[in-house]
Parts: sequence; C-alpha cells; structure tokens
Amino acid sequence: MTAARDRFAGQRREMVRRQLIARGIRDERVLEAFELIPRHLYVDASFVDRAYEDAPLPIADRQTISQPYIVAYMIEALGLDGREKVLEIGTGSGYQTAVLSHVAGRVLSVERSPRLGRTAEKLLADQGCHNVLIRIADGTHGWAEESPFDAIVVSAAAPEVPDPYLRQLAVGGRLVIPVGDEEKQFVYRIRRTRAGYEEERMAGCRFVKLIGRYGWEANQ
Ligand code: SAH
Repeated sequence: MTAARDRFAGQRREMVRRQLIARGIRDERVLEAFELIPRHLYVDASFVDRAYEDAPLPIADRQTISQPYIVAYMIEALGLDGREKVLEIGTGSGYQTAVLSHVAGRVLSVERSPRLGRTAEKLLADQGCHNVLIRIADGTHGWAEESPFDAIVVSAAAPEVPDPYLRQLAVGGRLVIPVGDEEKQFVYRIRRTRAGYEEERMAGCRFVKLIGRYGWEANQ
C-alpha cells in the first residue's frame, strides 16, 4: 500500500502521534496502518471532518465506529506478525477490518447487520483489501468452517466469553474481547495453550452490545 495522498494525511499523522504513540502504542505495523488507511471513508458523510477525532462516531443502525485508540490497543494486543488468520466479530464500518487486513495474513469478519456488512464489504474491496472475507451472520457462533484462528478480536461487548471463540482458537492463538455489563467492560486477552487457556484482564472500555445466541438478547 502506498501512502494515501489526500487532504487528511496531516490529520492522520497527528492522530498517530497524539492518540496512539503518546498513549503507548508501539507496534510499528499497527502505527503504519493507521497512518495509511483513510478513516474518513469509513464514517458517515456528515462526519467526514471529524473522522480523525479521539472518539467513537455514530454509523448506521445505531452502531459506532470505535475510537481509533481502542482499535489500535486491541489489535496490538493480538501480537500479529503478518501471517495470521484472524477472525473479527462486528465489522461495523469496516475500519478495523482494513487495519487488520494490513497487519495480518487473512481476515474473516462477521457482521450481524446486513446493511453495515454489505457497505463495508464494498468499501474494503474498493480499497484493495483482498485478503478480507465478510459474512452476514450472528458472530457469537464464530466461523467454525474457517477455524482454527490465530487471533480473534471482538468489537462488541459480551456478558461473558462465548464458548465458540475458545473452541475456534488455535493452540497459541489469542482472543481479545470486551466483557462486562452494559455500562462498563474490560478488555480481556485469552491465550490458548496446550494445557488450556490463560486469561488476562486489560483496560476498561465501553462498547456497544454483542447481540446473539452467546451474547445479549436482541430485545434488551
Ligand atoms: N470495529 C467496528 C465496530 C462497530 S460497533 C468499527 O469500528 O466500525 C460493533 C458492531 O458489532 C456493530 O456493527 C454491530 O452490528 C456488530 N454486532 C453486534 N452483535 C453482533 C454479532 N452477534 N455478530 C456480528 N456482529 C455483531
């Protein structure tokens, strides 16, 4: 990928410096992805001028494009070297998918909203992210046919860790997921070892709900 030459290049550099590096993001490949990927294409047209703000923004279907820092934090936590097969749950705008496309080998992404999923699919194809496959489904089931995964990242909050993710993780694989109640959650990193699973509680966070069979009920 070559550096995008658009009127937002300066804002992207500032975002990387002030929001990511200043807060401790160190993974060079993650930082490079944030510097290159045109985040303004992934927000609603009415928010284009706010695309590089240090905040989440509304997207369709009452969902949000995550704050840049939390995307960087969670992807860095996966510890990717570029060869991995990654499962992403909650494609949303497709921005995090684009970052993963840049720093992993293959990205399988599941979105429950057909509208969001289809829009993201088209945008990612237009952007040349050819190592991405999107499926419209209840992502709490994971994606069994494509498993095992070297990394799984969930960008909606679950009341507890859905079992399918644990089963679909390769030995040595990492799962990064927000778990908690509706108001507040923590990012957890779970590593599958030969003997079982190692769990680590990381930063506090606030995500929209993961809705589905192993998540929250749709009508809540
Ligand atoms: N990383 C995305 C986050 C979008 S918000 C971005 O920055 O744009 C979380 C997304 O998870 C929403 O699009 C929502 O529709 C989706 N989601 C919620 N429950 C889901 C489920 N069970 N399966 C797949 N996607 C789900």
